[in-house]
Amino acid sequence: MPELMLIPCPQCNGLNRLPADRLDDQPKCGRCKAPVLLDKPFELKQGDYASQVKGDLPLLVDVWADWCGPCKSFAPVFEQAATQLTGKCRLAKLDSEANQQLSAQLGIRSIPSLILFRNGKEVARQSGALPLPQLMNWLRSQGI
Ligand SMILES: [Zn+2]
Repeated sequence: MPELMLIPCPQCNGLNRLPADRLDDQPKCGRCKAPVLLDKPFELKQGDYASQVKGDLPLLVDVWADWCGPCKSFAPVFEQAATQLTGKCRLAKLDSEANQQLSAQLGIRSIPSLILFRNGKEVARQSGALPLPQLMNWLRSQGI
């Protein structure tokens, strides 16, 4: 029996059980049939948070706002990282203006902020944008 991994669907929050050796096969959500593993960041909303921090893949959240220049210049870096991390780490963007309650709950003081979650808990945080090589190094140092 292959090891099963629990991975929330970015579309419907349904928790999928996927064989660990089949993650490269573009698995679809058992509930809504959307792709479970994306090669791009998905949008994280307040109501999705509790479901999305769960599961066996780490979740990296980019906290941003529309008025924030550095956030906007970091966006393409984050997207590139997502293409390199498919199946290893899930990447999400949190609009801090549209989700003020969650931003406050996460203690966001400056943006952009990157927060890495593993098994539902915050394990690392980085304030400010990073170039892609540094971002990948930082994630590597976190075991990703
Ligand atoms: Zn789904």
